[in-house]
Amino acid sequence: MARFIFITGGVVSSLGKGLASAALGALLQARGFTVRLRKLDPYLNVDPGTMSPFEHGEVFVTDDGAETDLDLGHYERFTGVSARKTDSISSGRIYQNVLDKERRGDYLGKTIQVIPHVTNEIKDFISIGEDEVDFMLCEIGGTVGDIEGLPFFEAIRQFSQDKPRGQCIFMHLTLLPWLAASGELKTKPTQHSVKELRSIGLQPDILVCRSEQPIPEKERAKIALFCNVRPDAVIPAYDLKSIYEAPLAYHEQGLDQAVLDAFQISPAPRPDLSRWQDVSDRIHNTDGEVNVAVVGKYTQLEDAYKSIKEALVHGGMANRIRVNVEWVDAEVFDSTDAAPYLEGYHAILVPGGFGERGTEGKIKAAQFARERKIPYLGICLGMQMAVIEAARNLAGLTTAGSEEFDHEKGEKRFEPVVYHLKEWVQGNHAVQRKVDDDKGGTMRLGAYTASLTEGSKVAQVYHATTIEERHRHRYEVDVKYRKKLEDCGLRFSGMSPDGRLPEIVEVKDHPWFIGVQFHPELKSKPFDPHPLFADFVRAARDVSRLV
Ligand code: GLN
Repeated sequence: MARFIFITGGVVSSLGKGLASAALGALLQARGFTVRLRKLDPYLNVDPGTMSPFEHGEVFVTDDGAETDLDLGHYERFTGVSARKTDSISSGRIYQNVLDKERRGDYLGKTIQVIPHVTNEIKDFISIGEDEVDFMLCEIGGTVGDIEGLPFFEAIRQFSQDKPRGQCIFMHLTLLPWLAASGELKTKPTQHSVKELRSIGLQPDILVCRSEQPIPEKERAKIALFCNVRPDAVIPAYDLKSIYEAPLAYHEQGLDQAVLDAFQISPAPRPDLSRWQDVSDRIHNTDGEVNVAVVGKYTQLEDAYKSIKEALVHGGMANRIRVNVEWVDAEVFDSTDAAPYLEGYHAILVPGGFGERGTEGKIKAAQFARERKIPYLGICLGMQMAVIEAARNLAGLTTAGSEEFDHEKGEKRFEPVVYHLKEWVQGNHAVQRKVDDDKGGTMRLGAYTASLTEGSKVAQVYHATTIEERHRHRYEVDVKYRKKLEDCGLRFSGMSPDGRLPEIVEVKDHPWFIGVQFHPELKSKPFDPHPLFADFVRAARDVSRLV
């Protein structure tokens, strides 16, 4: 049966709880243990699928088609363990389950209450698959003291009591603010945060303290004393140049040892950190740099394209090259020449997105890359834009567009080269959709197989002709335009196994121009860069060496 580590946060949000959890998962793996990471989010949305990326950052998609918090991306990038639907839950989903049960009559006429019905639902969720791994790491979103977080804190308290002694530990992340005026690190917010936790019955075993300044031994001892934690379980967490240094940095500060001590696992298996030493070496020892433009809509918030940013970094690691990512707002050149905004970049990436705003700019970015022979990677909407560009400018379909934009506007303006997909095959069953379906969870979601044309660029890049990638979209390139577009040089080099859904297009006679309907960025890891990103960065490097 698994041991459980509950990770909570206090003082302020955005302390890097997800990263600390992911790094701890990686360190436990380095000691030979198996792990699974879970996220429990207190907000009331059923899942983040309907939230704006401006609100919540990227929506991470799992193989089994769950739309989840971006922290699940960190978990996968650090541990390589594919997340599942059952690794992400929100209050909304918990309440939905409880209310469904109530309607079905499962509670046999009882009054439904937060304790025990909601807390039981949370506890059931936490223990799914508990026999499969050595350690289950459960991160609670938000900070201690948040009203909506209370049922989760209560549930993990009960959970630890239900289990045999020593099977659950609590790790709490806090901040030690630095007061420049007095030149001091302040421990009081941490003390208050722990007091808050203890008031709801949770005593942390480990405190991870984020700090800009070195934490003197004396302060560490003070935190231990006031927060009732062992001094060697007060772990400093300093800012890092790269998030991928976190496993080694946390190891140096003794986090994994403190966790094993808290579980009284002795002797502790020796860690094999070679994977992370190699990753660190690839970050620090680079030869050259490339500038990549990501032409998107949500450019003010980097978290909106989190996995893309990380996958580009991994592509850099694969080539030992530094990748400078510049966020370019497509809307700026919606109705003017794109060239002044795109000149000088060694590669252009158009990421996924929703809605019409900025799409004319993205189409221009695809045209610029195609005509100037700049490496282009179009992801999901970025592929659809590349197809529309080719339809308009190569095949002469001047009104080519996407039904998505007509639906948004409520009028028919475009020839639907990209159309609303209403029926497809998932595994061995047919999925059906209508235009007026609910928005939540109704896209084509999760892993699907694609068959690649032998001898195509993508088959070379993947070294394979059958691949599986994650999807999240409602609209699709219409295969009926295939012949027309192929005659103009846009090759449909990846298709769904039944040949109905275009998965990949590439431009012939171009050094590197690939559009993919799926999201390759979701599967890239620092120790296993995604082949498309590795080769895209290599192509960008080749361009940078020409100029
Ligand atoms: N909006 C497009 C669709 O739904 C693309 C989605 C995406 O880029 N993830 O098909």
